[in-house]
Amino acid sequence: MLLREPPPTPADLHFKLFGFPVRVHPYFWLVTVLLGLNGKSTPPEQLVIWAIVLFVSILVHELGHAFMQRHFGGRPWITLYAMGGLASCDDCDRHTRSQVLISLAGPCAGFLLALIVVVAVRMAGHPLGFLGPWTQPTLESVGLVEASLLSTPLITIFWQPFESGNVNYLVRQLLWVNILWGCVNLLPIYPLDGGQVVRELCQIGRPRQGIILSLQISALCAGAMAILGLMSGELFVAFFFGYFAYMSYQTLKAYQTSVW
Ligand SMILES: [Zn+2]
Repeated sequence: MLLREPPPTPADLHFKLFGFPVRVHPYFWLVTVLLGLNGKSTPPEQLVIWAIVLFVSILVHELGHAFMQRHFGGRPWITLYAMGGLASCDDCDRHTRSQVLISLAGPCAGFLLALIVVVAVRMAGHPLGFLGPWTQPTLESVGLVEASLLSTPLITIFWQPFESGNVNYLVRQLLWVNILWGCVNLLPIYPLDGGQVVRELCQIGRPRQGIILSLQISALCAGAMAILGLMSGELFVAFFFGYFAYMSYQTLKAYQTSVW
């Protein structure tokens, strides 16, 4: 998720992965460290693990988009910036079906990475399981003497902890970022992937009304998420979605007053 490409800087990191040019803007590292610190004294080794997790997870998400763009004949490139990434291409197939699949490929790549982590934990001999959203996890309910827990709004994941606290931290962050980031990206909100999917689907046969409808859906959903964030005391969530709600509303007003 990124609105548009940032201008190049001398501190950009450039490399190629699977034939895709990748550029990492210095703000990516800055925001990653700020998010990792999050107002508390995070141990340096955990900060490094966090930076690696975010780098790998966002890169995998963008690779999902890029591989699908290449599948439809495009030659994409990837940019990692302050709040995420972007897989761009000038020559991508613009048909609805291609665009929908390209948008969905990012979150799906993240879910696949989470699945690989789950399989790796189990292969390392550590039992791992899931609980539904309404189950209160206890050691008895998960059948383990001790357990590491990761609670997301939809699911709680538990596993037999590793001896190393850093390995537990790595597993927890990899699962958290890839599951939660994938789910958030699927919300029907601009400029998230789900918002792009809804725009493509709404525009079938009625481009102007479709884009207006998708912006209305985006503004409503982002507004609801911002209120949820406020009510649960998650100010970052409230700000994040409040900003998207405002942007969708502004774009909506511009479309409604424009003449096509
Ligand atoms: Zn995406």
